[in-house]
Amino acid sequence: MTLRKIAHLGHPILRQTARTLTRDELLAPETQRFIDDLVETMRDANGAGLAAPQVYESVMICALEVKKNPRYPYKPDIPLTIAVNPVIELLTDERFDNYEGCLSVPNFRGLVPRATEIKVSYLDRHGNAVAHEVRGLTAGTWQHEVDHLFGKVFVDRVVDLTSFCTWAEFERYQMAGFVERAKALVARYGS
Ligand code: ZN
Repeated sequence: MTLRKIAHLGHPILRQTARTLTRDELLAPETQRFIDDLVETMRDANGAGLAAPQVYESVMICALEVKKNPRYPYKPDIPLTIAVNPVIELLTDERFDNYEGCLSVPNFRGLVPRATEIKVSYLDRHGNAVAHEVRGLTAGTWQHEVDHLFGKVFVDRVVDLTSFCTWAEFERYQMAGFVERAKALVARYGS
């Protein structure tokens, strides 16, 4: 496995809609090796997720995993998930103002309204069709990652531009209040 370089905001690949994969392409050894690299790179950078365009591959694959994440200590765990050609359906008009960060936008955070209940449909890494509902804070993590596959970065979705902050100032001025709200959401949905 190989650690990949991470593309930063301003690189055009982050603005392209990624290419969908056929089942044969997905099962090809080079794609399976790429998925291993994506997971290793996500874990090395302490990401809660990582999408293929963030490592310079414009294909519809993203990885998600949270295991007591030091970048996001309040996020509930998410088992390692590989989503290929994912589609999200919003199941509610309710939004949670999620303070997001991104490995492609170093040292920057902002508030993004995210749907609290969604349905995700995708292929797993073995080409099996999967569909399930996702709720709470974890639903926001999914929306952030799938956005990357459609050329969207979280900064595009920030409504209150005054919420933009560095990680240090987030921790100094925003973290306590945000974690209270995040914990209440997680308590309500269990995720
Ligand atoms: Zn991101």
